[in-house]
Amino acid sequence: MKGVRLQDITKTFGKVHGVKELNIDIQPGEFFTFLGPSGCGKTTTLRMIAGFYYPTEGKIFFDERDVTRLQPNKRDIGMVFQNYALFPHMTVNENIAFGLEVRKFSKEDIKAKVDEVRGLVRLEQYGGRKINELSGGQQQRVALARALVIKPDILLLDEPLSNLDAKLREETRIEIKRLQAELGVTTVYVTHDQTEAMAMSDRIMVMENGYVQQIGTPQEIYNRPVNRFVSSFIGESNTLEMTIMSIDSEKVVVKNEQGVTLTGLLENSSPLAPMNKGETIHVSIRPESILQGDGENTLTGEITFVEFTGLSVNYIVKIPGITLKVMIINTGGKLLQIGDSIQLSIPSRSLYFLGE
Ligand code: ATP
Repeated sequence: MKGVRLQDITKTFGKVHGVKELNIDIQPGEFFTFLGPSGCGKTTTLRMIAGFYYPTEGKIFFDERDVTRLQPNKRDIGMVFQNYALFPHMTVNENIAFGLEVRKFSKEDIKAKVDEVRGLVRLEQYGGRKINELSGGQQQRVALARALVIKPDILLLDEPLSNLDAKLREETRIEIKRLQAELGVTTVYVTHDQTEAMAMSDRIMVMENGYVQQIGTPQEIYNRPVNRFVSSFIGESNTLEMTIMSIDSEKVVVKNEQGVTLTGLLENSSPLAPMNKGETIHVSIRPESILQGDGENTLTGEITFVEFTGLSVNYIVKIPGITLKVMIINTGGKLLQIGDSIQLSIPSRSLYFLGE
């Protein structure tokens, strides 16, 4: 396994900016995910690591080796694409063996390696099947086996689950994570699905419009988003514009234009947040961190929307001067209805102060 380092990488296509000034340091054996909306530059970055695109500026290293202008077939990478790119009329074995034949391994060697990797992806019985006789999930495993059979230094996965239905996607997500942990292969994963990114990754890079917004563990990204984009893209968030009324070494008191006052903790502020008295600032509050009943930052409002999901009850609550999305874990109690009054409290540790 190798580390991957991108140093000051910029890629332009004529006048279009693909990605700008990227600096990433992926550790050997790490599961690292590029996450962001369509067009943010995820695939462009992955293609530069693969060698399908060369960067306009900057350098790429695998460990200490400069691979910036090395051809894809000289990079020892395994890759799985969204559409799998398998040969439909060939068998599972023939598809998996393809990369080994190109690399001129002996027949016995190829058979041994193909059998081994078919076991890894749990397709022991399917060696002789044609690709077009397999389900979507099985095809996905063949694509994964084909990428893994060459024992790559780095595994690149570009939205590998997007053609699978929800249930299968969840199963395959667990399967890929298991394989990755077992093999310890450095993995770079591209997705626009935040749940997938959170569940699988050691670290996530959130991108928007060609720029890195934040790099961190799933917990850091979720609990300590640096700016409004990250807090709204990852999970649900109530984002409120408020003014800092007072601030000391521990507590921050904020107020909005309608006079709603909340108290939060200074330690829960993004490094990018302007934490000074009088500054206007955005405050993020996760719906699931709001509690029903009395406590810190108690507010009383009227329910304007109710949604029961089984796991939770989601409410929209209109409080004079502020509207909040609230998620209460379902413990089988009575559902409140539209028009009912509800008392809420927001623990001070649940306010997070964002940068722009
Ligand atoms: P998606 O999730 O839709 O695949 P993405 O995050 O992978 O999106 P990229 O495909 O990396 O985004 O595209 C980043 C930007 O670069 C976009 O504005 C895109 O239009 C542009 N771009 C990508 N490839 C090319 C190309 N070959 N020629 C011109 N522009 C390109």
